[in-house]
This record gives sequence, structure tokens and C-alpha cells, in this order.
Amino acid sequence: MRSAADRRARWAGMRRSVLALVLVGAVGLAGTALSALTLSRVEEDRLDRALKQRTAIVAQAITAEVDRYATSMADLAAAVGSHSQLQTAEFDAIATAVDRDRLPGATGLALIVPVAHSEVDEVQDRWRKLGSPNLLVSPTGEGTHRIAVLNKTLDDTGSSAGMDISGSAQAVEAMDIATRDRRVTVSRTYRLLKDSSLPPERRQLGFVFVAPVFASSPTAADAGRFRGWLVLGTRGGDFLSEAVAEAADDAVAVTLLDGVSGDPIPMAAWQPDEPLDVSVPAIDTTVPVAQREWNLRVAATERLLAGIDRRLDRIAWLIGLVLTALLVALTGTVVTSRNRALRRVDEATAALRHDIAQREEVEHRLRQRETELVGFAGVVAHDLRSPLARIMGYADFLHEEAFDRLDGTQRDFLARLRKGADNMRVLIDDLLDYATAENRPMADVPVDLRRLADEVARERAADRPAGIEVGDLPTVHGDPTLLRQVLDNLIGNAIKYTPPDREPHVRVVARPVEDGRWCCEVSDNGIGIPEQDRASVFDAFTRAAGSENFQGTGLGLAIVHRIVERHHGQVGVDANPEGGSVFWFTVPEHSRSPTPR
Ligand code: ADP
Repeated sequence: MRSAADRRARWAGMRRSVLALVLVGAVGLAGTALSALTLSRVEEDRLDRALKQRTAIVAQAITAEVDRYATSMADLAAAVGSHSQLQTAEFDAIATAVDRDRLPGATGLALIVPVAHSEVDEVQDRWRKLGSPNLLVSPTGEGTHRIAVLNKTLDDTGSSAGMDISGSAQAVEAMDIATRDRRVTVSRTYRLLKDSSLPPERRQLGFVFVAPVFASSPTAADAGRFRGWLVLGTRGGDFLSEAVAEAADDAVAVTLLDGVSGDPIPMAAWQPDEPLDVSVPAIDTTVPVAQREWNLRVAATERLLAGIDRRLDRIAWLIGLVLTALLVALTGTVVTSRNRALRRVDEATAALRHDIAQREEVEHRLRQRETELVGFAGVVAHDLRSPLARIMGYADFLHEEAFDRLDGTQRDFLARLRKGADNMRVLIDDLLDYATAENRPMADVPVDLRRLADEVARERAADRPAGIEVGDLPTVHGDPTLLRQVLDNLIGNAIKYTPPDREPHVRVVARPVEDGRWCCEVSDNGIGIPEQDRASVFDAFTRAAGSENFQGTGLGLAIVHRIVERHHGQVGVDANPEGGSVFWFTVPEHSRSPTPR
């Protein structure tokens, strides 16, 4: 079962993963939004600039066109003013310069003269005589009339000759301004009188160009005197479409509004076939026209934006979203793999911990069992000692008292009995030593190794002649009885494992090693130990190959190993370069508490 700490760690991991994903996603989205916004701004700027440029072009075209009309009107007025007594034929000749191709939207050109109410008939007669026999002046109202005495029609709406246009406030206002300023003037927007007779669908709002006519012939008696006005009626829609068609280039729709303040009147609108682009606000500007100002509203059509890729921001969004999604997916994969790997590490660690705990448990139990076994062996050995002593005692007694009376077979049996009992004694002694080496209370006192080695050498040399050389051994710290046992075992083995036909040469020396320790070496010229057996000879009941002909229990080196371990030392065996073996063990020079067991 998962522990609470594991669950908490897992939750924390998941929270971190989600946070990482959210963070990556947010950064991706923010980057995308920023790019899209920047592109959209750039795009809007370009559109704005394009529309402003186009508006300026259109405004210039309109101003230029109005100027052209005004110039034409000024020229015509000058031509008319140069005749001292203008005949109809002369007016017609002057007016031939004007046609609808030159001045698009023009409806007709008229010479208007101011006529007092009392002079209407006289004026009519005069102009009839000057070449317009059919002139029929139609004055409206009282006061001064403004009569069209000459007229050139420029469209199919008929002549305005004889008409009194003093009823048209816009035309009158323009005429007055033109006279006052002595310049060509454009009137306010209104429906031309001529258009009143047209069907509604053909009616347009328009305006008139008014040029004041002053007598200009140097020979004329009235030179410089005001004679009247030359008025050109113009339909706004027709004028505008001709004036702006080229400049607008289908990229913009144009609306002309008259009146700077208040409610401007939409005079004319021009719209190409292209659909309008409502995403860009229209631009309002003013256009100066002869003595007046018109308002101009220019709106973009989709053609204006044709060269500009308006989907860039959308593409940026798309690419950004795809990249963000990829990034999030990648991060998700990395995070998931990492989490999975971490989980596996956690699981493996938990399994390892479990294994270690199990192993420690098994080791503990083994140690307990071993201690029990060793204790048991010790008890058994101890209990076997007295019966064995009795067996040996009786065997010795038999040997001493009745040897002479025994026949050969009985003597052989007795010898075998004594030898078996002796072997058993050695085994029991070794077992007891092995058991006590583990549990015996240990002293921690200075031990003169040299003295110990000399004693052992003396005792051993008494059993079998051997050359035993004891070097300058130090005084170390430990248990004298146990250390004596170590030296006894090693020196005993050194003599024992030298073949009987060879005199044993044993050397016991010591040298200081690191950590305040001494390494004591016991070398011999014996049979040696094969390399593969050198590590295992220190295990209990283990004997090396080649030692079958030598008596032994396989316990001596195990006892040595235990004793050295309890002195915090190490033990080992190497081959003697001169033949035989070199056993070594380390002991502390100074006091150190032994391993509690
Ligand atoms: P054993 O009672 O057999 O001598 P030990 O534990 O003292 O038991 O030694 C274990 C084995 O190590 C021996 O049986 C022998 O094979 C080998 N051995 C020990 N000392 C020597 C030595 N000095 N030379 C050669 N072999 C040795």
C-alpha cells in the first residue's frame, strides 16, 4: 500500500507537472497574442496610410477639376465681356468651346443679366434684336430679376433662355459673391431649376459655377462695367464620377457633402463596383473649391487592401496555437516520462529498502543461530570432555598395566583406541576454543608479543625440532590469552604443514602499518596453500587441497580469524616467495575497546 508521504509526493509531482504545462501554454499563448497584435497593428497602419494617401489624391483631383471649370468659366466670361454688344451668334461661337466632354456634369451655360421689373419688355426686345427672336422672358415676382438672356444647352433638358433664376436662393447668393469678389464662385448645393422637370430617378443635386462678366473691350464706352453673370449649371453626381473615377481607382468610395458646419447635405456619391471594407473607418476631409469648401468622405473598398495580406494576424494565431500545442504536448511528454522515471526510482528504492530490511533480518537470525550453534557445540564439547578423559584414562591404564598380556591384535585395537580418543580430544579442544573465541570476555591490556612468541616457539620446538626465529616484536594492546592462541595456531600450523622430511623454518616478525597498528607475520617453508584456497581456509572446518596427509580439524584458522576480528584487525595469507606460506594479522598498538558481541 502506498504511504501518505508517497501520495503527497505524487500529488506534488502532478501539481508541478500541471503547473509546468499551464506555464508553457500561457507563455505560448502570450507570445502568439503579441505577434498577432503586432502584425494586426502593422496591418492597420498600412491600411490607414493607404486610405490617407488615396484620400489626398481624390481631394486633389476634385480641387483640380473645380479649378479647371473655374478657369474655363473665367475665360468664357472674359470672352463675353470683350464684346461691346454681344450678339447671340457671338455667344454661340464662344460657347462652342464648352461641351459635356470637356466639362462633365455641365447642364447648360447661360448669360444672366440683372433686369429691373420695369425693364423686362425692353430687355426682351433688345436681346431679340441681338439674335434671339424667340426669346420669351418669364420674370417671377417683383423687384430685380435675373434673366437668362442667352443659353447654350449641354444636355437633353431643354433651354433655360428667358428663365428668371432670381427665385433660386443658392444661385443668387453665388452671383452676389461673384460680383462682390469679381471672381468665379461655386454655389451651395441645390436642385437645379432645370432638373425640376426631370423624372425623379434622373434628378440630381447640383451647383452652379458663376463668373461675373465685366465689359473688357478697351474701345467700349462702358469698359469695366458689370454686365451680368455667366452661369454653368453642373450636376453633382456626374461631375463627381468624372472627377474622381480615375483618382479613386476603384480603391475608395467617395461622398461629397456640402456645408462645413451644421448638417452637411450629401451632394453626390461615387461608388465603384468593389464592395466596401467596413473594417476601416472612412476618412472625412475638406476640399477647397472656388470660394467655398466641400466635405469629402472617403471610404475604403476591398480593392484598396488587395495588396495587403489581412490574414497575417490570423495566420500568426494559427501558427502560434499549433506551436503552443506542440510545445505543451512536448512538455507533457517530458514531464510524464520524468514522473514515470521518478515513480520507477521510488518503487525500486522501496523494493531495495524492503530487500535490505529482509536481508538484515536474515543476517540477524543467522547470527543468532550461529551463536546458538557455537554455544551448543561448546556445551557438547564440554560435556564430552569427562567421558573422554575416562576413556583415555582407562586406555592408558590398560596400556601400562596389561600391555604385556595382550596379543598382537589386542595391542593394535588398544593403539587405535588411544589414537581415536586423542583425535577426539583435539577436536573437542578446538571446538571449545572456537566457541570461547566468540564469547569469552576479553581483556584489553598491553601484550608483549615477543614474549608470547618465544614461549610458543619453545613449546612447539619441544614437540618437533624446528628452526623458529622470533624477530623484534612490539608490545600491543589486547587479550594476552587470545593473542597467544593466535600465535600458537599459526606457529603450530607452520611446523605441522612442513613435510616430515624437511626441517621447519619459521620466522615471526612485525612491522608497523597505518592507523597505529602492527602487522605480525608468520612465515614457513611448508607445503604452501593453492591460491584459490587462500581466502576460504579461514572458514570453519575448511581445509586446503594438499593437506589431506596432515591431521587437523579445520578449526584453527577460524579461531584465529575470530580473535583477530575481535581486536579490530585483519588476517590473511600470501605465498612465501621462498616457498611455503606467510600468514599475517594486524593488532592495535594502543588500547581500543573490542567489538562487543
Ligand atoms: P587444521 O586443523 O586443518 O590445521 P586450520 O584451520 O588450522 O585447520 O587450517 C585450515 C587449513 O589451512 C589446513 O587444513 C591447511 O590445509 C591449511 N593450512 C593452515 N596452515 C598452513 C600452513 N602453514 N601451510 C600450509 N597449509 C596450511
